[in-house]
Amino acid sequence: LPENYDHLHWTKLVHAEDLQRVEESQAEVLNNPLEFYWEQEYRFRKLNGNYAIVYDRGYIIRDKAGNAVRMIGATQDITKMKENEIHLGKLNKNLQLQSEKLAESNSQLEQFAYVASHDLQEPLRMVTSFLKLLEKKYGETLDASGKKYIHFAVDGANRMRQIILDLLNYSRVGRTNGEKQMLNLNKLVNEINILFRKEIEEKKANILIEELPLIYGYETPMRQVFQNLISNGLKYSRKNIPTRIEIKAVDLNEHWQFSVADNGIGISKEYFDKVFILFQRLHSKEEFSGTGIGLAVTKKIIENMGGKIWITSEEEKGTTFHFSIQKQ
Ligand code: ADP
Repeated sequence: LPENYDHLHWTKLVHAEDLQRVEESQAEVLNNPLEFYWEQEYRFRKLNGNYAIVYDRGYIIRDKAGNAVRMIGATQDITKMKENEIHLGKLNKNLQLQSEKLAESNSQLEQFAYVASHDLQEPLRMVTSFLKLLEKKYGETLDASGKKYIHFAVDGANRMRQIILDLLNYSRVGRTNGEKQMLNLNKLVNEINILFRKEIEEKKANILIEELPLIYGYETPMRQVFQNLISNGLKYSRKNIPTRIEIKAVDLNEHWQFSVADNGIGISKEYFDKVFILFQRLHSKEEFSGTGIGLAVTKKIIENMGGKIWITSEEEKGTTFHFSIQKQ
């Protein structure tokens, strides 16, 4: 280095904790004839005595023998940027903590739903079987009102049983999936249609299935999704017109986008999100049977597969359920 190079003056301003690293890194570059560039971040004392974080870089000029003779560079105050970076890092960490907490409370909730629904089954069985006994043994001596009360009680117990089973099913989504495998969705949907043969005949339903893809995934949840949507399409149909359900898939590179469209009673816009909430129903059990869990299960399964589900619909025209599934 030239003799008048005020090395000492410059280094005096570098923070004591950074000085060794800065000097060593500079010496290493300067002493290597093949190196022409140096950069470091360090704390540098300002006139007011505070330290700024600086980003320093320099181009090295060498003589013919390769000795470093000068360095031309620039020092940039990056304190603000660094502070932002640290702030962002903290925010990120907080966010991560929050999402860990959320996952924890979610899993506790699922555990609760599982245990509650599992443990409720046994006392419910007791209620149902004693009601049956009561009816069998004292049925003859009961008057019409007495019989009606027992009938209501049995009906309530049956519905409660269905709700418990559905809740158990909901809490199981994502727990017991089996093995991932190649799924032929055409085959899977056709099998579901065989299952619904009776309803399809009753409603004179026409189910159109376009070429569906092969996907790599879990069979049971995938079957449940199509089964729930097809069964709703059949259930929420309009009277006096033949039901029509159309199932399609579009390839959108990163994911498949499916649609299950019906020509049924439709859903009003304000309920597009609500129908996916657990136990949310838009009709009384007298109008349409059900427990309001099917779509909550469907949504949970699809979100577990990294997808989304949404609705487009017009009342008295029909409803289309759209959902995406990430390719893997
Ligand atoms: P359930 O059918 O047992 O009530 P779901 O979770 O499957 O429960 O559906 C929630 C509600 O969304 C239903 O009660 C119904 O009002 C509405 N819904 C679902 N599918 C359709 C459809 N295809 N057409 C019109 N309404 C629908």
